[in-house]
Amino acid sequence: MSEVQKVIVVGSSHGGYEAVQQILLDAPNTEIQWYEKGSFLSFLSCGMQLYLEGVVKDVNAVRYATPEGESAKGVHVFVQQEITAINAEAHTVHVLDHDSGEERDETYDKLILSPGAVPAEIPVAGRELKNIYAMRGRDWAIKLKAATVNPDITNVVVIGAGYIGIEAAEVFAKAGKHVTVIDLADRILPLYLDPEFTQPLTQTLSEHGLTIATGQSVQRFEGQDGAISKVVTDKASYDADLVIESAGVRANTAWLKDVVNIDNHGLIEVDDYQATSAPDIYAVGDATLVKFAPTDGYAHIALATNSRRQGRIAARNALGEHIAFPAVSGSSALSVYDYKFASTGIKESTAASYGIDSQSVLVKDSYRPPFVPDEAGNAEVLFKLTFSPSDGRILGAQIMSTQDTTANINAMSLAIQQHVTVDQLAYADFFFQPGFDRPWNIMNVAAQQASREIASTKH
Ligand code: FAD
Repeated sequence: MSEVQKVIVVGSSHGGYEAVQQILLDAPNTEIQWYEKGSFLSFLSCGMQLYLEGVVKDVNAVRYATPEGESAKGVHVFVQQEITAINAEAHTVHVLDHDSGEERDETYDKLILSPGAVPAEIPVAGRELKNIYAMRGRDWAIKLKAATVNPDITNVVVIGAGYIGIEAAEVFAKAGKHVTVIDLADRILPLYLDPEFTQPLTQTLSEHGLTIATGQSVQRFEGQDGAISKVVTDKASYDADLVIESAGVRANTAWLKDVVNIDNHGLIEVDDYQATSAPDIYAVGDATLVKFAPTDGYAHIALATNSRRQGRIAARNALGEHIAFPAVSGSSALSVYDYKFASTGIKESTAASYGIDSQSVLVKDSYRPPFVPDEAGNAEVLFKLTFSPSDGRILGAQIMSTQDTTANINAMSLAIQQHVTVDQLAYADFFFQPGFDRPWNIMNVAAQQASREIASTKH
């Protein structure tokens, strides 16, 4: 039975939500106060594309928890109430109620912070112009949805070709807008996929009428009558009635700098148990670093999956357990028109930035046996396996097809986490049924090839 009487959880997105659910599960008699400074509890930006494309009709449905539902479970929910300061020694937080303007202090035994991140703003002239949007949170979701059907918006410029930028680009292209995607990197999705994958994706985007302007740096925004009209880069100028900035995130931690240790990227430093440098304060989510399995080090990987796992573990540790957070592989998936892809761990193109020596094999195969016609669900699959040339340890994998083969990447994520080698993967037991795959799963095929390549360099 936990001795902890009262836990305060700050932030109502993925990390905060999981912390609250874990406490309810393990110690339901604990007093839980759950704070959200915004006007809406538990909006999930991951569902934004589905809302913007009209698959999910109601913006208020894009959530996991409601204040009423959580209150019924005994949670004290405070929306529009911001934690503005923490006195770690006294174990108190200062609360600002944005509705009433009133302020008060609350005590805690344990404090779990999941303050997340906000979209980074590109520091160029013209930022004050109207119609410069971001893609995160419910308020932006509502504005973006209105923009998809606004006939005055013809040209949309998305800045940042990571997965959020690509989601935004596809939404607006499908809404009939002319979309330009600008990125400093020389190709789209540079952190997620190697060029063999991004090349066909870029081609698809171009075929759907999008302009892909990679290898360019935004210099300034120009306007007309106070609204954005052009985005000027070092190479060209693009007409814009709307700009969507999706060039990274900034951790929401400025208010914490005198309370817990924060690194020079603004991320809260946590130990293996999600504990911060201050006693009884834990931190999770996009505002923290995570243990990264391929390097056995730490990385900033802003994903809901990580926030959720960290939230669960922080809550258990706050209640008195001692559970280390398992290293993650940084797995993610996305669709771009007909293509579905997923990746995990290190890519050939990102290995150097981690100071890692890597080797890769690329396998092109069919999803099902060659005798199965495409009309019956067959298609080409592209799979890339990245491994250590010295000991064969698996470091990363990428997969793409017009069929959904993305679940393979979950197996690869586990392989990375468990330090599996290509020799072990080469004959690993994966099912075969012609309705689903081939007698040799593509992961086996790639690992066998990798194994041969390592062996040949040793002879
Ligand atoms: P956040 O989601 O940033 O939430 C923090 C919350 O804390 C906010 O609501 C904020 O208002 C509140 N808050 C902050 N400070 C205070 C304070 N002082 N007092 C009170 N409240 C406070 N990840 C995936 O794994 N899969 C996906 O498919 C995916 N898709 C995405 C799509 C989009 C468009 C975006 C933007 C992100 C996507 N992500 C996805 C990433 C995922 O949304 C984030 O990793 C996740 O939301 C991080 O959760 P978090 O709890 O750390 O913080």
